[in-house]
Amino acid sequence: MKTEQPQPATTADKGLNFIEQIVEKDLADGLNDGRLQTRFPPEPNGYLHIGHAKAICMDFGIAQRFGGVCNLRLDDTNPQKEDTEYVEAIKRDIRWLGFEWGKVCHASDYFDKLYDFAVSLIRQGKAYVDEQTSEQIAQQKGTPTQAGTASPFRDRPVDESLTLFEKMVKGEIEEGAMVLRAKIDMANPNMHFRDPIIYRVINKPHPQTGTKWHAYPMYDFAHGQSDYFEGVTHSICTLEFVPHRPLYDYFIDELKEGKDLSDHRPRQYEFNRLNLTYTLMSKRKLLALVQEGLVEGWDDPRMPTICGLRRRGYSPESIRGFVNMIGYTRIEALNEYGMLEAAAREDLNKRALRVSAVLDPVRLVITNYPEDRVEELEAINNPECEADGSHTVTFSRELWMERADFMEDAPKKYFRMSPGREVRLKNAYIVKCTGCVKDETGRIVQVNAEYDPDSKSGMPGADRKVKGTIHWVDAARCVKAKVRLYEPLFTVPDPSADPRDFRELLNPASVKVLEECYVEPFAVNNSTGNPYLQFQRTGYFIADPSSTTEAPLFNRTVSLKDSWKGGQK
Ligand code: ATP
Ligand code: MG
Repeated sequence: MKTEQPQPATTADKGLNFIEQIVEKDLADGLNDGRLQTRFPPEPNGYLHIGHAKAICMDFGIAQRFGGVCNLRLDDTNPQKEDTEYVEAIKRDIRWLGFEWGKVCHASDYFDKLYDFAVSLIRQGKAYVDEQTSEQIAQQKGTPTQAGTASPFRDRPVDESLTLFEKMVKGEIEEGAMVLRAKIDMANPNMHFRDPIIYRVINKPHPQTGTKWHAYPMYDFAHGQSDYFEGVTHSICTLEFVPHRPLYDYFIDELKEGKDLSDHRPRQYEFNRLNLTYTLMSKRKLLALVQEGLVEGWDDPRMPTICGLRRRGYSPESIRGFVNMIGYTRIEALNEYGMLEAAAREDLNKRALRVSAVLDPVRLVITNYPEDRVEELEAINNPECEADGSHTVTFSRELWMERADFMEDAPKKYFRMSPGREVRLKNAYIVKCTGCVKDETGRIVQVNAEYDPDSKSGMPGADRKVKGTIHWVDAARCVKAKVRLYEPLFTVPDPSADPRDFRELLNPASVKVLEECYVEPFAVNNSTGNPYLQFQRTGYFIADPSSTTEAPLFNRTVSLKDSWKGGQK
């Protein structure tokens, strides 16, 4: 298969979304010295999915649009779940989507600074080591309307906390035996202020820092500070972080105290997550599908991952087009999977090479066509793009056509192959069906037709119109291929809201393999470098990475919205 050449991303000129409006104003007001810096902060504990694509288009897109920079920040604060395989996959997927980062940063780059900050909070009496279990701590949290209960360790001497924190960090404490908590306000209506846990013990080597640390900062203690250390100006995330924002600001205020009196600071902005019908977006559940062998891997074409969509035949432009279509708001929504498909059709229609492929073949014999004759006919590569040129297809006496394009006893409005009726063979001749041949079980094994030599497509005077056009391939000069057709992976529109285990919601018919299809040779070895194909009248397809010239295998990206004009009504 040819390697794809992603087109550089450009932000569609379509008015500014609400975060772009904020950025435009901040830049005009000279905030942060008129600098714009964002970051895309995945946790390297899985592959990126279509939801991440929405965040990527925002974080990188806004930097691009306003002349700023976006860094890739690997949010690697939990060595239990993280893997360098994921880091490589994340980088590959971002680039494939058409974006480029300024720098690659890690939350772990700031472990020293975060440690110093934690120690300084302890010294100021603003943090303490709690030796309760996480269950006890959770029980004492209270409710939004009821204050929490103070830990018995809340007022322990500073020196004790310093000594214990040191032990936590050095690996002298067992996991779960103690945590470091910020001492803020156990009665705060915002539950995140009720002495949040800021460090916990994890006795596992870290991919970046090895065995240097045995206690690691929690998200709320790492994220905002990392933004600050890095010089992020606009920290854009999804709506579930709205209640975390005051804590984000609190820690930055503490960090800035006395050191930096200017207004240089990151600010957090939130937009709505992407949720898609018939799809799960939780990395934990996607990982389970992979680990339990319920899908072929992270890049299974049924997966909502970027690599799955790529293997399915989605172009980067179609994913960006989809994100653009749904837009950014502050209201949570469940988007129709059909919109993603519509975005793919819109883009692939402009991009895909048109080829002939017969997925459910039956032999078609043109009985009045000379046995030894082979004609080369012109086939336009893409009617939407003249520059894509054309290729040749061969025509001869024996062809393959779709079984569904023949009917022995057809209703009046059937404009395909039926005894006595005429139909055009795409790019070739008008033929009149003369009957069919059946085997002893009554199954049709051959359709017969006669061609009109004066009706060749493109020939002067050959513009005689017939109502239907069907596709075909030359039986002696085509390639046998396997084709995979896909249906949604889940049977219910909102699997994450379903009380049943997500494994029970898997669609047993999510993939169907057609073992014997016939495609024209150009589908297998076109030299244009364009991997996107339209099988005429059938849908958009791409060769699977495992496909070879000897054993071609195609994945259907998406069907065509409407059956072909002149085809089935
Ligand atoms: P999970 O909870 O499944 O692990 P996550 O949200 O924690 O996913 P991260 O790797 O932490 O995944 O996410 C990196 C960035 O991508 C974050 O800024 C997050 O807000 C954003 N993101 C993740 N999922 C979505 C989604 N469905 N829609 C939009 N943005 C998302
Ligand atoms: Mg996360």
